[in-house]
Amino acid sequence: MSPAPLPAVVADDPLPELVLGMLRNRVDCLPWQAAVDGEAEHAVGLYVYGHPPVDGELLDRLPNLRVISNHGVGVDHIVLADATARRLPVGNTPGVLDGATADMGFALLLAAARKLIVGDHFARGPDFGSYDPGYLLGREVHGQTIGIVGLGRIGLEVARRAHGFNISVLYHNRRPRTDLPESLQAEYVSLEQLLRRSDFVVLTVPLTAETTRLIGRDQIELMKPSAILVNIARGPVVDTDALTAALRRQQIYAAALDVTDPEPLPRDHPLLSCENLVIAPHLGSATEQTRRAMAELSVENLWLGLAGKPLRCQAN
Ligand code: NAP
Repeated sequence: MSPAPLPAVVADDPLPELVLGMLRNRVDCLPWQAAVDGEAEHAVGLYVYGHPPVDGELLDRLPNLRVISNHGVGVDHIVLADATARRLPVGNTPGVLDGATADMGFALLLAAARKLIVGDHFARGPDFGSYDPGYLLGREVHGQTIGIVGLGRIGLEVARRAHGFNISVLYHNRRPRTDLPESLQAEYVSLEQLLRRSDFVVLTVPLTAETTRLIGRDQIELMKPSAILVNIARGPVVDTDALTAALRRQQIYAAALDVTDPEPLPRDHPLLSCENLVIAPHLGSATEQTRRAMAELSVENLWLGLAGKPLRCQAN
């Protein structure tokens, strides 16, 4: 008797060896293009790795699908309503990446405040002849005020780190949280108050219709001239043109971005030539340990969905 065929799962590539190793010999992996071309009708799973768009049009080409599993917590590239309308659970990976993403937020904040990247280039370059106490003065980080826009799982980890730096915490969500540890002493304020009072504004909201361009010209105008804007959420939460204009005229002290809109920016984009910008190529959760945890959780969601069981983490 020939063995039962493996369940067919569409995935975008290149998948890392970490994930491939978990899928090998357990599923028949089909390329994303097969789904786009309507040649994966028998697929029962969709594994989403690098943020390709998933909407009703694609899902209609996959009539036998039982589950969508996303490698990551943010699901803004998936039209959840389209998946829900087709009774498809969408798995994601909340929680396991909070610490790594918050660490990156703080790394960016420290780098921007203390001119670390400019300093690194200077220390390696030909102009560093002797120590001068007057060069590359930055901004103090400890003892300042941070404003967290979106104090959820990642935002809370940012707040915990801020506490360790003796930084006062303001936050803005659509509604105040009632479950925060008292020791954190986080003050709930309006977005306007947060922008006016914060030395550092850190964005940790999901990308939704409501948060698209949440930070534009009017919001940047409310910020202190000494303020630093840190985006570890999604690029479109910030209006790129407004931020570029503000940095060019030094309206705020600096911006530190893990994500941009578009992503990546065109190589000749004026934002990339701003000295008061620190930028990373979307590295928020990119540690070996967190990537493993994300792979394990997303693959577990896939198995559970294929078996018709509730997912461990479901976004819709
Ligand atoms: P979460 O736990 O759901 O937290 C999101 C917070 O945002 C919630 O507290 C929510 O509070 C608030 N919020 C939602 N809509 C809002 C609005 N319109 N105005 C103000 N606050 C709003 O999510 P998380 O796990 O922390 O992840 C947040 C996002 O980070 C993800 O969706 C993803 O896009 C991004 N992320 C980026 C990276 C990276 O590599 N840079 C890594 C991981 C995640 P209310 O519901 O009370 O408003």
